[in-house]
Amino acid sequence: MENIRNFCIIAHIDHGKSTLADRLLEFTGTLNERQMEAQVLDNMDLEKEKGITIKSHAIQMKYKLDGQEYILNLIDTPGHVDFSYEVSRSIAACEGALLIVDASQGIEAQTISNLYLALEHDLEIIPVMNKIDLPHAMPEEVTDEIVELIGCKREDVIRASAKEGKGIEEILQAVVRRIKAPKGDPKAPLQAMIFDSVFNSFRGIEIYMRVVNGTIRKGDKITFVNTGQEYFAEEIGVLKLDKQPRSEISAGNVAYLISGIKVASEVHVGDTITHPDRRGESLKGFEEVKPMVFAGIYPVDTTEFEELRASMEKLKLNDASLVWELETSAALGFGFRCGFLGMLHMEIIQERLEREFNMTVITTVPSVEFKAFLTDGEELSVNAPSEMPDPTRINYLEEPYIKAQIISKSEYIGPIISLCMDKRGVIKNQNYLTTDRVEMSFEMPLSEIVFDFFDKLKSISRGYASLDYQLIGFRESDMVKLDVMLNGEKVDALSAIVHRGKSHEWGRKLCEKLRELIPRQMFDIAIQAAIGQKIVARENLSAIRKNVLAKCYGGDISRKRKLLDKQKKGKKRMRQIGSVEVPQEAFMAILKIE
Ligand code: GDP
Ligand code: MG
Repeated sequence: MENIRNFCIIAHIDHGKSTLADRLLEFTGTLNERQMEAQVLDNMDLEKEKGITIKSHAIQMKYKLDGQEYILNLIDTPGHVDFSYEVSRSIAACEGALLIVDASQGIEAQTISNLYLALEHDLEIIPVMNKIDLPHAMPEEVTDEIVELIGCKREDVIRASAKEGKGIEEILQAVVRRIKAPKGDPKAPLQAMIFDSVFNSFRGIEIYMRVVNGTIRKGDKITFVNTGQEYFAEEIGVLKLDKQPRSEISAGNVAYLISGIKVASEVHVGDTITHPDRRGESLKGFEEVKPMVFAGIYPVDTTEFEELRASMEKLKLNDASLVWELETSAALGFGFRCGFLGMLHMEIIQERLEREFNMTVITTVPSVEFKAFLTDGEELSVNAPSEMPDPTRINYLEEPYIKAQIISKSEYIGPIISLCMDKRGVIKNQNYLTTDRVEMSFEMPLSEIVFDFFDKLKSISRGYASLDYQLIGFRESDMVKLDVMLNGEKVDALSAIVHRGKSHEWGRKLCEKLRELIPRQMFDIAIQAAIGQKIVARENLSAIRKNVLAKCYGGDISRKRKLLDKQKKGKKRMRQIGSVEVPQEAFMAILKIE
């Protein structure tokens, strides 16, 4: 155990975590050159395409220093604001963290939030300034910022270039010398913390765990402290680029476990694994996940509901932050009301359902959670517009507020403040990090920030501003339900809860947007927005005059087939609502309103 080091890499997105992880694997000979493809740890297709790390991954390396061989377990973590839940789970499995800061960008909002998470878990922090090769790197200024932030010495900050392989050996030495070896007693009753799991269709569920106390052996009878079921440890081992089976794993190690579990709901991330005949206590679990955004997910084909349920259960195994309950919609039938950590998370869940499980789904208008205080004294939680009680029964409503930290170059202060005010925000604090970089904090409604705020912030600051936020509680707010009707028929899945002051304007813009997004059909369609009984906006979508196929009259069969195929494809994410076909984009229209 003396020779084990468990560590993670934390950083703001794009500061170079994954590239640095690749260099560490390369330097320690964990991978040979043939195995070395760029960013091996981002092995999910989606991660490669988006160039971001979504899941945390663990990998073991060997490193020799002063004649001793050390085992280094590295856990890579995602940096986007939506995934801080993944970060906190990885952090709980480590004793130290490399804090990477881009030498050309300096400290950003998530550098700070991840650092706080690591400090809460008492991790040893090794500051690394990456990308020193860049011509516009500002090593002295950025070192000042780091020293100021974590209170270390200037010489503690390691200068590195993950791209050119500089500073890698110094980082490995610091991991061995500065991070503590794990504590724990291999002879004590077994306590292993589940920090991740993934569904493998051949072998059942794979569990990733940190053994905190005791020893687990192949073939052991084991149990989960919180769920109580018993299993056999069919296979245990360590995670290199692939899985390497071992006959036993003891305290201090990061490992995997396969016990043929097929039912996703039996495995809970945060649960403790122990022996039924010599029980260890439950380890302190992880923080509860707090979903920020709620939206309905429905199968495009209503007969695929059960299949969608099974797919969501499997996905949840690999993403414990996904939560849902059943929901029925008059327009869309049976589906799920899901909670997400943010809009990027929602987008990723939808894409993973489609790619990994071959499901075609519709997601409905996202919403935050409101609280309704009724005239009879009851308090209701409202996660969807359809749950909004009748206005005559409502005494008042509350909506969630957040505290946002924004770090930016000082020249963008003006536009950032006006953007925040437009989003009903109030500035609370302003603090210069250096002469031309400023940290601002605002209080504003969560509903204004979760949808497109981040994109707007990036565009007004030419990409320079970074954002982090935390919930601070609920505050009274004047919200109303905005309904949409297509040919007089209310479409529940298109309703939204909006601030009264903006409601008429939103109704008008929403109708305009829907008119652009809903394809013209064989008949006229009236698109209306209403608040209660009152119609606040109306647009008309006129019928198509000619059948598209008429164009190829008498003609060419292959061209006709192509057109039909094209129509079929276009239909993939459409739902028939009453007589009207509505595409996926329409459900997101409310987010695109300027
Ligand atoms: P992550 O989001 O923190 O995992 O960051 P990545 O490792 O994906 O890196 C983000 C971008 O920065 C990629 O385009 C990398 O090629 C680039 N990058 C990473 N490290 C360096 C470095 O040391 N120097 C330079 N010039 N670019 C780097
Ligand atoms: Mg990455």
